Amino acid sequence: MRFYLATSFLFPRSLRMRLFALCFVATHLPLLGYIGWGAATGRIALAELALLVAATVAGTALALIGIGALLDPIHRLADALNSKDAETPVLPEVGDVIRTLYAGVQRTADATRERIENLQTAAHEDSLTGIANRRGFLAQLEALPADGRKGSVAIIDIDYFKQVNDQLGHDEGDRLLRAFAGRLASQVRRADIVARWGGEEFALFFQDCMEDEACWSLARIAERMRIDPLGEVNGRAISFSAGVARWAFDPLERALERADDALYEAKQAGRDQVRRAGRALLEERCP
Ligand code: GH3
Ligand code: MG
Ligand code: MG
Repeated sequence: MRFYLATSFLFPRSLRMRLFALCFVATHLPLLGYIGWGAATGRIALAELALLVAATVAGTALALIGIGALLDPIHRLADALNSKDAETPVLPEVGDVIRTLYAGVQRTADATRERIENLQTAAHEDSLTGIANRRGFLAQLEALPADGRKGSVAIIDIDYFKQVNDQLGHDEGDRLLRAFAGRLASQVRRADIVARWGGEEFALFFQDCMEDEACWSLARIAERMRIDPLGEVNGRAISFSAGVARWAFDPLERALERADDALYEAKQAGRDQVRRAGRALLEERCP
């Protein structure tokens, strides 16, 4: 590869011409040596010189024809791959070696593509729970069509989760996070988006829902957490608090901030409840 790059100054655009230049110099070396020796010693013989020149020209021509023939299938392959419909290029009859080479390149390209896809999925997925992570949540919202980018957002936080880790262990904490993610995902509609926001916090997007509908949906899940608990700590069923905000016309970050503020109020008010953002105090608590 280094040699390939080092010779690129010769004919940067043509590999054929580069090969020609190298062959030319290589095949003329004996002749040049003979001329140099003859000039230095004055013992040059014209008949031998003529014979050497003829043999060198014939050798160069032979080398060129041979290189041209060897390069031809590679050029045809490159043309086929560069053609407009390169998706499924029609391969010319190029022989087994080139076919094997091409198959190898295809396999490497497929494996690289798959690896990139896996990396992209991993970057958008939470490895513990299998649902979207914060980046995946934002990317999914970003990808929505303009008329789908409205509804309500909720930030959800599991109550007293530190006690779970402290009293039941980190593994049980992880199990609960997975179970909670599964419960959220199974209780919302297909159009809604669930994500692990970080730690024991989750985010939810309720597409085309007013805050009331989102609150009802979350209240239903909260009720389910009491009837069919995912776990208990200190004799208390695992619960969550949530803040809900409408997202329609303002930037998403603003709606998420308002949902977060509402979550804070839910925590302050005693936890295990859902709050709407931007309501008068008496109305704040969701049904
Ligand atoms: P609050 O009701 O105010 O939300 O109290 P809390 O105990 O839930 O909140 P706090 O922020 O004090 O504790 C959150 C805990 O969540 C602390 C941290 O160790 C734990 N946590 C965060 N990520 C993970 C995780 O991936 N696995 C486990 N097992 N625990 C986690
Ligand atoms: Mg928290
Ligand atoms: Mg918490």
